[in-house]
Amino acid sequence: MNTMSNIQSSTAKLLINGQFVESKTSEWQDIVNPANQEVIGRVPFATMDEVDAAIASAQAAFATWRHTPIQARMRIMLKLQDLIRANMKDIARVLTAEQGKTLADAEGDIQRGLEVVEHACSIGTLQMGEYVEGVARGVDTYTLQQPLGVCAGITPFNFPAMIPLWMFPMAIVCGNTFVLKPSEQDPLSTMMLVELAIEAGIPAGVLNVVHGGKDVVDRLCTHQHIKAISFVGSTAVGTHVYNLAGQHGKRVQSMMGAKNHVVVMPDANKEQTLNALVGAAFGAAGQRCMALSVAVMVGESQNWVNDLVEKAKKLNVNAGHEPNTDIGPVISPRAKARVTDLINSGVEQGATLLLDGRDVVVKGYEEGNFVGATIFNHVTTDMRIYKEEIFGPVLAIISVDTFEEAVALVNANPFGNGVGLFTQSGAVARNFQNQIDIGQVGINIPIPVPVPFFSFTGSRGSKLGDLGPYGKQAVQFYTQTKTITSRWFEDSHEAGEVNTTISLR
Ligand code: NAD
Repeated sequence: MNTMSNIQSSTAKLLINGQFVESKTSEWQDIVNPANQEVIGRVPFATMDEVDAAIASAQAAFATWRHTPIQARMRIMLKLQDLIRANMKDIARVLTAEQGKTLADAEGDIQRGLEVVEHACSIGTLQMGEYVEGVARGVDTYTLQQPLGVCAGITPFNFPAMIPLWMFPMAIVCGNTFVLKPSEQDPLSTMMLVELAIEAGIPAGVLNVVHGGKDVVDRLCTHQHIKAISFVGSTAVGTHVYNLAGQHGKRVQSMMGAKNHVVVMPDANKEQTLNALVGAAFGAAGQRCMALSVAVMVGESQNWVNDLVEKAKKLNVNAGHEPNTDIGPVISPRAKARVTDLINSGVEQGATLLLDGRDVVVKGYEEGNFVGATIFNHVTTDMRIYKEEIFGPVLAIISVDTFEEAVALVNANPFGNGVGLFTQSGAVARNFQNQIDIGQVGINIPIPVPVPFFSFTGSRGSKLGDLGPYGKQAVQFYTQTKTITSRWFEDSHEAGEVNTTISLR
């Protein structure tokens, strides 16, 4: 595979019919290191002919791939997980250079995706159909889980390893072919994973990659040969993709924006809770869809706020590849401007700014898009910092008197990606998991992203579509259930009888 130095000296390639090719487009975008604005590569916005060629190659490959035995498909995933593990450090270095997160967190990004590949090595039991013998005389009913055809994935900038790996391994191992459209902001680490997938033995046309923005995405959403689309990204774009692809008859899942709360009960283990809150709010510079953005302090736990601020003050803001960095830069100057604008709005709307990360300057990286840990107290639900997804290292604190008030507050928020509860009481925890209307719940866990044999189950405003992107639900998403009802009389000469009713006899 490419090493970091030669991948940086090249452009992000398209992958069409097994060949890594340079786009013929005239539209390109620089890939920029967010820590210092160094241009480390460039990405094409593919032409419509190139997108069509990628889809055509996937369509042609499907004819053979769908009949490749599932064991052979799983064996490629077994090879892929081995290759990813062996190349993890190289991929992490590129990921940090283009995305900004710390090297340790970049390895975490790859590791969480790798776990999906590991699960794809053994999906045989999940793609089994069902069988009931003898539903009428000589009649059996059974189901097949058949691949759909060409599926597409559209991914965001914040997890350039994990999220592509949520998608193409599961789609492909189920017998589909795939067209991936990575984020145009940081496609290089994604392409390293794609190279490994080809090295692992994925045949020509089974996995294709096109780069670009709205035009490419819209083509995927409307093309007659695309059967299903998995999207992860912002709420505005995810809603557009869901509507457009849905209108064109495709199966769609959109995993979107969030505003994740943690409820802190006064009986919680204080140190454990505050450590968890700081990591979840400020890790990855808050650029996780499961990042903690609102802490709801119940009763006496509101007295812990100053200690929380003291812990957050100790976080080290620096370039992601520097040792001991806790908070790297946000992805772009535009993202930094958005975050600081939202912090300004919090001040203007009357929240108490306890820790201000706006003016952080990092020695040696003065041009970087850095924002330090920022904490607001006395936030109210009408403020922009409460209502909007900030996607930066900003934590809003709201205090309430009772558990019931906390649950009502969280349930009234339109988003439903993740929520946490910190308590030492099993009874409170059990009530919480029952009453809270959020798709992923952490009990004494701040970022409850499920492991791959479960599914990612964000809900309400954070998700459109029924099925999640990995685990059992992904196998359902990427397959069509075909139900067969068949009759074989024991005597093949038996004539049967005329039956004018709907009943089976
Ligand atoms: P984004 O919506 O800007 O981009 C996502 C993808 O859509 C990219 O591939 C991009 O090229 C494409 N795109 C951008 N604008 C488009 C347009 N107008 N029409 C069609 N396609 C377009 O998201 P982002 O900024 O890359 O990622 C951050 C967002 O993703 C946050 O809102 C975050 O919460 C969300 N996210 C959600 C999850 C989840 O599982 N719910 C996971 C990760 C990220």
